[in-house]
Amino acid sequence: MSDPMDALAPEHRRLRIGDAWRDAAGGATFAVEDPATGKTIAEVADAGVGDGLAALDAATGAMAEWAGTPPRKRSELLTATYRALTERSDEVARLITLEMGKPLAEARAEVAYGAEFFRWFAEEAVRVEGRYSTAPTGGYRILTVPKPVGPCVFVTPWNFPLAMGARKIAPALAAGCTTITKPAAQTPLTMLLLARIMEEAGVPAGVVNVVTTKRAGEVVSALLADSRTRKLSFTGSTEVGRVLLRQAADNVLRTSMELGGNAALIVCADADLDVALDGAMVAKMRNIGESCVAANRIYVEEPVREEFTARFAERMGALSMGHGLDDGVDVGALIDEASVTKIDKLVADAVDRGARVLVGGRRPDGPGHFYPPTVLVDVPGDALMLGAEIFGPVAPIMGFTSDNEVMAKANDTEYGLVGYVFTGDLQRALRFTEGLATGMLGVNRGLISDPSAPFGGVKQSGIGKEGSHEGILEYLDLTYAAIDLP
Ligand code: NAP
Repeated sequence: MSDPMDALAPEHRRLRIGDAWRDAAGGATFAVEDPATGKTIAEVADAGVGDGLAALDAATGAMAEWAGTPPRKRSELLTATYRALTERSDEVARLITLEMGKPLAEARAEVAYGAEFFRWFAEEAVRVEGRYSTAPTGGYRILTVPKPVGPCVFVTPWNFPLAMGARKIAPALAAGCTTITKPAAQTPLTMLLLARIMEEAGVPAGVVNVVTTKRAGEVVSALLADSRTRKLSFTGSTEVGRVLLRQAADNVLRTSMELGGNAALIVCADADLDVALDGAMVAKMRNIGESCVAANRIYVEEPVREEFTARFAERMGALSMGHGLDDGVDVGALIDEASVTKIDKLVADAVDRGARVLVGGRRPDGPGHFYPPTVLVDVPGDALMLGAEIFGPVAPIMGFTSDNEVMAKANDTEYGLVGYVFTGDLQRALRFTEGLATGMLGVNRGLISDPSAPFGGVKQSGIGKEGSHEGILEYLDLTYAAIDLP
């Protein structure tokens, strides 16, 4: 089988700035690792502040022409990107797995998900509209004109190396904005491949710029301080999000912030347990649990707690762990050693406080950053893992006896990204929908991510929406004209 690195030629493992693929000004590079082996798979350019600002020069230079490009033409370029990603799905997926660790089947699903943002926003690009109305007092008319916000800076995480960029780049281009993306240092290759695919699809130079760097703090803050930047969209931790929001404030930037989560998954006694088990497996184990929407806390109503727990533990214990590119692997490597150590500590803390391990719970010896699927019960309310993002394949299961009690526990977090409820009672589902303080809710479903739905959190999980019609509005300013007409 071919080397996944063949997808990205050495000349494209460099900065994408304007019409060039070029080295960082000082020639610096940094290594990208396969997390399943710890081996270096590539060197990419390590941009400095000057390189970042060169990308902003390119994005600013391309802005007027791109904004003035007919929406149908922009739409066609997004469709061409969708088609290319779909046709090259296997190639892109293998690169994702190599640099990020997820099993190949999940990487293919990410490519399908990421590609769909291009298809969805190709359809939205031609439906940007304003309004025309008569002022209530008469005498003049009100006209609203949507306009692209301007050059956008995107900062993306490592857990979905393609999709987290796609869901920013696609709506921005549809709205007529140009972009600079700074991918996570651990997974820059997929974003470079996307930029190459978009270049081949015919997207003009300067519209999609990619700056890889190990110096995120310096490079991003210089971009956010420059008055030519008009928008920041960030996906990552709440901790870094707060820092970037402060920087964006100095330049009064439009911001979209997709931050951390601490999802509660609630299984009611009246749920179809087969559906709940399937949903819980997806909500917990998609992306090896390295997902902002991962079920972090599982609450099961007492009458079905034992049965659910036994069946869930059996399914978790049957998963196979290994290199994501190998056949039959369900659980790939975690992103790095720090991640494994953090999870190990969270499990040890829960056990110290009285939790019992039903499955997993011990990191394996050997190379790579692996942690096995783990199920914990009797987890006390003060265990650290109930308040932190676990970001791995560990499931704490707790019981509950009343809806008010479980709702209060679910809401007892600074986060408000997503929740999951499994019940056969529609009224109960609606009460949870109204009572849970989250931006999204899966009802009898463990998967909510969908390019045609507004993804985003409340509280400290973020600001703004990605996907759906709302997704393009994040990239549009509105000018209102009062037109005298006595
Ligand atoms: P992270 O540490 O916050 O990093 C995210 C991005 O920010 C990376 O590109 C990182 O660059 C960059 N960054 C770090 N410090 C920075 C600074 N001081 N200034 C500018 N940029 C900086 O998050 P992560 O570990 O990659 O991703 C996991 C987090 O993302 C979790 O909290 C997860 O919940 C969240 N997430 C949220 C969503 C959502 O839609 N709500 C989706 C996916 C993930 P480096 O790689 O160079 O550090």
